[in-house]
This record gives sequence, structure tokens and C-alpha cells, in this order.
Amino acid sequence: MTYRAPVAEIAFTLKHAAGLTSTPADGPYGELSADLVDAILDEAGRFASDVIAPLNQVGDRYGTPFKDGKVSTPPGWKQAYHAWAAAGWNGLASPTEWGGQGLPQVLNAACIEMWNSASMAFAIGPVLTIAAIDALAAHGSDALKQAYLPKLVSGEWMGTMQLTEPQAGSDVGALRTKAERAADGTYRITGQKIFITYGEHDLTDNIIHFVLARLPEAPAGTKGISLFLVPKFFLNADGSPGARNDVRAHSIEHKLGIHASPTCTMVYGDQGGAVGFLVGEENQGMRCMFTMMNEARLAIGLQGVAIAERATQQALAYARERRQGRAADGAATQSAPIIAHPDVKRMLMTMRALTKAARAICYATAVALDHAHRGADEATRQRAAERASLLTPIAKAFSTDIGTEVASLGVQVHGGMGYVEETGAAQHYRDARIAQIYEGTNGIQAIDLVTRKLPLAGGKTVAAYLAELRGVVDAVNATNDPALGWTGIRLNEALISLERVTQWLLTEIKQNADGALAGATPYLRLFAATAGGCMLADEALATMRLAGGANVADATARVATARFFAENVAVHAGAFERAVIEGGNIRGWDAALTHEAS
Ligand SMILES: Cc1cc2nc3c(=O)[nH]c(=O)nc-3n(C[C@H](O)[C@H](O)[C@H](O)COP(=O)(O)OP(=O)(O)OC[C@H]3O[C@@H](n4cnc5c(N)ncnc54)[C@H](O)[C@@H]3O)c2cc1C
Repeated sequence: MTYRAPVAEIAFTLKHAAGLTSTPADGPYGELSADLVDAILDEAGRFASDVIAPLNQVGDRYGTPFKDGKVSTPPGWKQAYHAWAAAGWNGLASPTEWGGQGLPQVLNAACIEMWNSASMAFAIGPVLTIAAIDALAAHGSDALKQAYLPKLVSGEWMGTMQLTEPQAGSDVGALRTKAERAADGTYRITGQKIFITYGEHDLTDNIIHFVLARLPEAPAGTKGISLFLVPKFFLNADGSPGARNDVRAHSIEHKLGIHASPTCTMVYGDQGGAVGFLVGEENQGMRCMFTMMNEARLAIGLQGVAIAERATQQALAYARERRQGRAADGAATQSAPIIAHPDVKRMLMTMRALTKAARAICYATAVALDHAHRGADEATRQRAAERASLLTPIAKAFSTDIGTEVASLGVQVHGGMGYVEETGAAQHYRDARIAQIYEGTNGIQAIDLVTRKLPLAGGKTVAAYLAELRGVVDAVNATNDPALGWTGIRLNEALISLERVTQWLLTEIKQNADGALAGATPYLRLFAATAGGCMLADEALATMRLAGGANVADATARVATARFFAENVAVHAGAFERAVIEGGNIRGWDAALTHEAS
């Protein structure tokens, strides 16, 4: 079964998050009409469904053969990439001065979701190119921008982001790749990077590597890291690719999923050092990386939404076709499609509700990024930047965690046919897993949330956000609509837990860091379960108001989904609260982990 982009659903969530549903657009979305949003999403949905999605299984089976330092992408990949770039999708949100379309992040986020549902292995290359564009546009010299940005924005060339080394994964500050000043103002890069996505491939005739390295006298840790642009091929006077730089792919990894995305070990300096051009200032590389970190982490969160959406579509279709057993009411004489069984329905509802909640969180994060870049005044931009910073680790970690959970349920709905490779359900499960690891593991996201994001603006950023959630809970309770069942009560309990634990962590992190960090992951889940539940309820309320009897089916479905989430997912909030506050007995854990029965 292939993928059909859920354009209407995506458009609804986007417009709701961006405030484009009932009032004319203002603020950062001044130029964006609801019709323009629909037209762009329609076109993206068509491309994702018709051109990229059919390549997903081909890519999984073919992989990316590596021979004599070269990587071949799977059949059809190159044509699809060139058609995609020619249609202008790569530069949708890039600056117009470099050939992009300058459209809002939230629109790009919706498209990134669709490219990734169609194929995660295809879309991860452009996601990293967009990150590279952001870093270069914000920190590069004019000469570097003029030489490289137009072709990166058009997609004629792709970019890579190179942080990881064998001893430096989560601990980026441990990296050792060396950069030495050359007399001509450039740098010579020597060392090795591992796990580099699209480090080598045949999709474009140049690859622009963005590499973190350390100058000889640089301070230790992250304060001594600089960012360099290292082209695979130097540029001729006319800007075309010329002589080869001293960088090569040494090998590629054999891995669990995203087989069509080459993951390369890169070697710098076989012949004395690759020529690198400094981006930003010496020892300020981490600052440059932070520029694009929110966008890149959000993009990985969108991978989670994307794979969850595709797995859900596939499981629903299978459950409608596969017949086993009789429906529980005993009325039918024939075997029923498995979707008739309540336990299968529960799995499908869990998949649908988690996917929609993660989508709402990711799009809300993109909206905050738009306000941070385009807000009317400095104070608005600052507040929005802090909101985006707060939501980013939740968008990344929750969405990618549920990506794997939903894909796993997808396998379960298929029974044995999910475990074998034929249906594609197993591929989604394998592909989903990486998104919890790269671009900062989900454990690191939870730590980021607790140690850096909660204290933002002295705790005011999180307080303002929780106050907004309180407004939604109050609105749900004020409706008194029996269709919403226990939604208001469960969301209220979840929010009280979240408020209590947030206060507790803000103090605990200063007094007992180990105890606080032990609860970081359940805290992030509590946050997401509460925020996601409120967002789905808010969407349901909006549809009930909007429908006014006109679109009853849509309102009924949204109310049922919001209710399911509140009563089946947010209901775990109390357990997460206790796990954070009561469950952090690190010494007890150490004793258990070191003890061996004799
Ligand atoms: C397919 C693939 C593609 C990738 N693409 C790229 C790429 O394009 N560019 C690039 O630079 N890198 C890339 N990576 C690398 C990826 O970003 C790292 O694997 C990731 O950051 C984790 O680092 P690590 O593998 O060294 O794990 P480690 O850092 O060793 O972590 C192992 C475990 O320990 C936990 N842990 C580590 N430190 C802490 C801490 N301080 N506190 C709490 N828990 C901690 C982690 O959460 C994790 O669970 C890719 C990796 C893969 C597998």
C-alpha cells in the first residue's frame, strides 16, 4: 500500500496553529491566504504521493551500493530528486535574495512532513541541506554566500552537516578534527567524521560539507569549535565544480533502516588537508550550529509525524481488508474485517491520536519560529524565539518516540504480515527508529528541556505556555458537551500534574541535579501528553464552532480523537508525575545495575 498525502488534515492543523482559520492573516502570515496554503499543499501532496512514495520500497531494497569511493542512489532516485528541486521545493522557506521563495516555516514544515511520509531516506538529504543553508545565510561571508547559496537553495547542490566523530557523539565538544590556518586565509582540515548522512552520492554534481573542527590553540570543549565550509569540488571561475578537494567517503554503514540514505565515514586530509572556508568566527562554531538547531530538530520531529502518518494509513487499509473472527456482538455469520474488533480499533485510534497530537505540536513549534523571525517588534520576536526553544525538544523527542510506537503498532495490526517485509509495515518500523537518535538523542532533548528551556526568562516562558493550556482546559470544561466525555477532567488533571512537576523541577535542578535529570524523559512525555491533549481538544472545539452543523462528520471525528487522547493517553499524566518526583532514587538504581546474583 502506498501513501496518500492527507492534505486536508494537514491544511486544517496548519491553519489552526497559524491562526488562518477564521480571521484574515496578520503578523507573520500577512502575505499568506488560506487559498495559497491549499494550493501549495495540494501540489506538494501530489508530488509526495505520486513521485516520491513509489520509490520508498525500491530504495529500501536497493540501498546505496558503495564502490571505489562512489555511492550510487537507487533506480529512479536521481530523476525524482531533480524534478523535486526543479519544482522549487528545496527553497520554499529560504531567503528570496538567494533564490528561495521566503515562505513561512510552518508551510515548509507541512511539506517536510509529506516528503518524509513519502520516503524518510529521500527527505533527510534536503532536510540537512536546508540546515546548511540556514547556517551559511546567517553566518557566512558575502563571498561564500554568493558562491554557494544560490545553488544550495535551488537544490543543484546538496549540503551535509558534520559533527560526529567516533569519540564525539552527544558530546560534540570532544571532537578532534583539526583545522589549521593557511597563508591564503583558508584552512586545512584533517581528521575523520562518522555517520555522515549523504556524505557521498550521485544526486548532485557537487556536495558542500559543513564541518566542525578545532584550531590548534582552541579552548577545550564546545568553546573551541569552529565551522568550516568544505566543498567536494572547488569552484571554477564561472562557479562550476572544478578540481577535487582532499575529502572522501571511506565507507558506508549497513544499518537498520533508511537504507537509501547513505551514511558515510568521511576522511579529510589524505593529501595534506582539505581546504576549508571559515563560516562565522573562529571558535564560534557552536553558535552557528545553534542558529539552525531549532529548525533541524523540528524537521526530525516531523519525520516522526511523517512515519506515524504513513504507518497509520497502511494499518487502517489493512484492517479494513483482512478478515478474521466474528464481530463480538455475535450477529454476523461471516468473518469480519479486523477493524471490527475493539482491540484493533484501540490500536488504530492510538495511532491516529498520537500522530495528530505530534503534528499539532510540531506545527505550533513552526509557528513560533515564524513569529521569532517575522514578528512585528523585538519583544514579540524574543518571546516567540523562547516559545520555539521551549517547544523544540518536545516536538523532536515526542514526535519521534511516537513515530516508532505508531510504526510498531502498525506491525501489530498486520499480524505476521507486519513482521515479514512484503507489506512495508516492517520498513516503517525500521526507518522510524533512527529519528529518536540523530540530531541529538531523545534523552539529550529531555535534558535540554529541563536544564535550559524551563529556566528561560526566569521560568516565565514555560509559565506563559502553561497559562495558555489552562485557557484550553477551561474552554473544554465550559462547553459541558457530553460528546467530550472525560476530556476536560483528564486534561485538567494532566495540567495540574504538569504545573506541579514544572515547579518542582525548577527548584530540584539547582539542588539535586541527578535526581532532576533522572526524571527528564518522563517529564518530557508528561509535557507532550498534556500539550498534545490540549491541542487536539482546541482543534475539536474550533471544529464544533466552525461546523455550526455544516461539517458534522469532521467535528464528530475530531471530538472523538481528542476524547480518546485525553482518556487514554493524557490519563497517564499522574503516573509520569510520580515517576519524576518519586521515582528518581538514583542510588537505588546504581545498586540494582551493579548487583549480580551470586
Ligand atoms: C543513520 C545515522 C545518520 C546520522 N547522520 C549524521 C549526520 O549527518 N551528521 C552528524 O554529524 N552525525 C550524524 N549521525 C550521528 C548522530 O547524530 C549520533 O549518533 C547521535 O548524536 C548520538 O551520538 P552517539 O551515537 O555517539 O551516541 P552516544 O553519545 O554515545 O549516546 C549513547 C547513549 O547515551 C546517552 N547519553 C550520552 N550522553 C549523555 C548525557 N550527557 N546525559 C544523558 N545521556 C547521555 C544518549 O542519549 C544515548 O542514549 C547519524 C547517525 C546515524 C546512525
